[in-house]
Amino acid sequence: MDVEIDALVIGAGFAGLYQLHSLRDRLGLSTRVLEAGGDLGGTWYWNRYPGARCDSESHAYRYFFSRELNEEWEWSERYPGPPEILRYLGRVAEKFDLRRDIRFGCRVVSARYDETANRWLVQTDVGERYAATYLVAAVGCLSSANIPDIPGLGEFGGRWFHTGKWPHEGVDLAGQRVGQIGTGSTGIQAAPVIAQTAAHLTVFQRTPTYSVPARNAPLTPEFKRWVRENHAEIRAIACSTPNGHAFRIADRNVADVTPDERQAIYEAAWARGGLQFRATFRDLMTDQAANDTAAEFLKARIRAIVRDPKTAAALADIDHPYATKRPPIDTDYYETFNRGNVTLVDLRADPIERITPRGIRTRSAEHALDIIVFATGFDAMTGPLLAIDIRGRDGRALREEWRAGPQTYLGLQAPGFPNFFTITGPGSPSVLTNMPVAIEQHVEWITDCIGYLRQHGIDSIEPDPEAVQRWGEHVNEAANATLLSKAKHSWYYGANVPGKPRVFMPYAGGLARYRRICEDVAAKGYDGFWLHRRGEREIPRARGGTAGEFAVARGPGV
Ligand SMILES: Cc1cc2nc3c(=O)[nH]c(=O)nc-3n(C[C@H](O)[C@H](O)[C@H](O)COP(=O)(O)OP(=O)(O)OC[C@H]3O[C@@H](n4cnc5c(N)ncnc54)[C@H](O)[C@@H]3O)c2cc1C
Repeated sequence: MDVEIDALVIGAGFAGLYQLHSLRDRLGLSTRVLEAGGDLGGTWYWNRYPGARCDSESHAYRYFFSRELNEEWEWSERYPGPPEILRYLGRVAEKFDLRRDIRFGCRVVSARYDETANRWLVQTDVGERYAATYLVAAVGCLSSANIPDIPGLGEFGGRWFHTGKWPHEGVDLAGQRVGQIGTGSTGIQAAPVIAQTAAHLTVFQRTPTYSVPARNAPLTPEFKRWVRENHAEIRAIACSTPNGHAFRIADRNVADVTPDERQAIYEAAWARGGLQFRATFRDLMTDQAANDTAAEFLKARIRAIVRDPKTAAALADIDHPYATKRPPIDTDYYETFNRGNVTLVDLRADPIERITPRGIRTRSAEHALDIIVFATGFDAMTGPLLAIDIRGRDGRALREEWRAGPQTYLGLQAPGFPNFFTITGPGSPSVLTNMPVAIEQHVEWITDCIGYLRQHGIDSIEPDPEAVQRWGEHVNEAANATLLSKAKHSWYYGANVPGKPRVFMPYAGGLARYRRICEDVAAKGYDGFWLHRRGEREIPRARGGTAGEFAVARGPGV
């Protein structure tokens, strides 16, 4: 028998928890969350690898919707790790009594839109069935682990793990020869910590990238007090910046300062640490010559830290502009290569041929290993959505509709999938932001939208394909206005997953601008969407509408 509810939410991370609270407690809808994991937390439930930590600063990595919650919660460190984030989300669940409507250990495998009943029929891997009017995918952008197809993995005599599915009981690395594949944000966090306990760590690097020291530290009592007392100001900054972080981007171009001043600015940003390095100049993400100055500064740092010149050269041989791939921050990443028990293998010079029973064989050598760590990231953004067999109007499959790349309006809805919403979906700023801020914006927009539908007796909403096409063009235009389009091998383009269409997935026009566009669309009666009342033959347009001119959206955002 189907469980009949108003709204079904898939995923119990930051997005799913707030969506449940909003739909259930603000709109009064019967709402259920289904979560594949054994508990809440999403990313932080799954990613418990050594060194795992948030790169966003804790005072902005939080919900802002509840003043009371903010006043009672205090982060202990500049960047929280999984245990503290899980405690935070646990507190949120307790405060808003969320657990009673979450079903854990239950993966959604299919969702089919029944046009006659205007219901989504959802099936799980434990044989449960739900029927809901609204379906919200809060499945996360980085929740579908990507394990590269390297021949021989099945023959490996040791153990292997993906960082995004790290055993909760931990892995004893003492005395082990560990091979780590991958040097993105996760690999850069993990290597220094693995090296501290492993007998030997071999880091297999295909694509080097820039990293800036995180400079994590306990928060001082003064800072904690400042955070408590300035909740509204922190929120206002996070909502007004392109990336949703609580720091502003400097209002100057690289060419506005002398080379000496520029060097001093970079030195200060390096000393301060964190993602704020990217905020030193306004044009770092839009002007190649400006970006080159940051890139050169960071490469020089690598060469200064790493003692072995060959290793330093391989780490600094970076082929893309700074921050055009997700910019990592680290704790002693480059210093780790000065340890006697750490080796770097440059896969561009010496590619992996196969995994053997004993370890990993590259063209020039076999590296004996007890453990392989895949820090190889995720089938980002579309992966978790397409893992579900989602069928919309006329049985159309999302997997087919998105074969050549995701098609959305505002990253919120796909055409032909009425009442189906995605949080931080492709075509929204999502992974280019401090995500809780982007998540809150989406959850609130979706909640307002559903509230509007119910108030106006409207049965379903879906985007006008024409608006979808224009939005797709605008997403491309926004990426092309920045240097992000120069890192074609980044996961923003889906390049880490063989066969995935090469489409720039997140919206690079900036979160603040995106928020204005979404507000404008809603204020115009959901311009660019079709609002449908059952019994009416035609699906009417929301309004005659501009269907997304996005005139406010000119100029680079990121
Ligand atoms: C290692 C790592 C570090 C990160 N660091 C930062 C950072 O510093 N700053 C930042 O802003 N963001 C960071 N992120 C991004 C992070 O994902 C977001 O900040 C945030 O946690 C996303 O919340 P979410 O609820 O949207 O998704 P998630 O936290 O990914 O939660 C989605 C949930 O949906 C569940 N799910 C998926 N498919 C199904 C299904 N079919 N059925 C049932 N359940 C399903 C998953 O199990 C998961 O629990 C990081 C991500 C990773 C992986």
